[in-house]
Order: sequence, then C-alpha cells, then structure tokens
Amino acid sequence: EPPAPAVLEARSLRAHYGGFVALDDVSLTVPPGAVTAVVGPNGAGKSTLFHCLAGTHHPTRGRVLLGERVITRLPAHARTRLGIARTFQQLAVFPSLTVADNVRVGAEQGRVPDPTAVERALRLLGLDGPVRALPAAGLPTGTLRRVELARALAGGPRVLLLDEPAAGLDTAEVAALARILRALAADGTALLVVEHDLDLVADLADTVHVMAAGRVVASGPPGRVLDAAEALEAPA
Ligand code: ADP
Ligand code: MG
Repeated sequence: EPPAPAVLEARSLRAHYGGFVALDDVSLTVPPGAVTAVVGPNGAGKSTLFHCLAGTHHPTRGRVLLGERVITRLPAHARTRLGIARTFQQLAVFPSLTVADNVRVGAEQGRVPDPTAVERALRLLGLDGPVRALPAAGLPTGTLRRVELARALAGGPRVLLLDEPAAGLDTAEVAALARILRALAADGTALLVVEHDLDLVADLADTVHVMAAGRVVASGPPGRVLDAAEALEAPA
C-alpha cells in the first residue's frame, strides 16, 4: 500500500517582525483532498503564516511539518522540490517571458520534472490558445493569476498554497477559479487558501480558520465559523 499523502502542518508557530509579534501560537493542518481556508481582517497574520509554511519567513518558535518531516528551517526552493507550491498575493510572473515559458519555470522548479505537466497546466487554466505565446507583461490580472496557478501546478505539487487568489478577479473569473480549485482537491491535492472573499471561502472551503491579531480565534466548517469572521471584518 502506498504511503498516505503528506499533511502540511503548523505547530505552535510564533513569528516576529523585529519586536512585533505577528503570529502567536498558531497551529493548523492542511490535509490532502481538501480545501483549508484562512480568513481574517487585514493585519491578522494570514500572509505571515503563509510565508512560514512556504519558507519565505522563518518562525521564532514552533514547527512546520510535511508528513513526518520537520521542514521549519528549509528554504523556500527546497520546499518547492518537496511538493509545496505557492502563488503570491502580489503577482510575481516573469514579465518578459511568454505565458508558456512562465509555466515551464514552474515545471523545472517542482517536485517531478514532467514535460507533459506544462501542457496539462496550460490546458487546465485555459492558457493553451494563442495567449500561450504572448509575453506576460501587460496581460490582464485575471490572466496573470491563471499563469501563476498554472506555474504552481506544472511542478506537480502535493500541497498548493494560495495567498488571495481571487484578488482583482471579476465574478465569472472567481467562479472559474473555484471550479479549478475544487477539481484539484478532488484529485488529492492539499490546498491552503488565504482569502478575503468570504463568499468564495463559503463556497470552496472544507475547513476555515479565522485569524485575528496573530492568533487563530475560530476553526470549523464555513457554515459554523464564517459569521465570526464577518463580525471581525465589520467596520468598528
Ligand atoms: P494579513 O496578511 O492578515 O493582512 P500580515 O501577515 O501581512 O497580515 O501582517 C501581520 C502583521 O505584521 C501586520 O500588523 C503587519 O503590519 C505586520 N507586518 C507584516 N509584514 C511586515 C514586515 N515585513 N515588517 C514589519 N511588520 C510587518
Ligand atoms: Mg495578506
């Protein structure tokens, strides 16, 4: 029997920026075959948690695990090789490269170098038409978000980390994104989505963690915890 797919796990993470505590004792798991969401107001620590999981910020206490393996100190590129792919809140495509070449970069950095993965990722994201040959510079936000997601998928990730994937997308694009993310989860990928759009989270997530001031203040299925999240978002 093949080993069970690895779970990404944060255990009692604490993170600082100078003297400021951005994460305080945060624990959660990101299981395969499900969408796990993190929501909460601006400044709650969502992106910091995301960076600790991706390896672009290092916690001062606690652990990050992939399955049995402690990866707390591993740099981001080594985590990518282990199958943890990410997209960025601020888009980070290579502007002078074509759409297809941006996606090829993801295949080269990923877990299993697989040339067919590039074509599959382009097709899944609707980027296999003439747009594949265009330079990324100047393409609309919705297209660039799809390029980023295709790039992350081309590496064959087991865990996919998405920071605000719906930012800048219109309603139709958000619906299309939700369909793609659900299909990836159904295929066994572990998804963590940090997202401001609570309607999308309600539609998509199996489990939601609500953060405020560096802590997880509620966890559960969206129907049970999103009211708490909305109350936190409401203007004072
Ligand atoms: P969120 O993604 O939930 O909006 P962040 O994780 O980006 O929250 O930020 C959490 C807190 O840490 C905020 O108060 C923010 O101002 C602070 N912060 C984030 N990044 C830095 C940084 N590079 N240097 C100093 N403070 C930061
Ligand atoms: Mg953020």
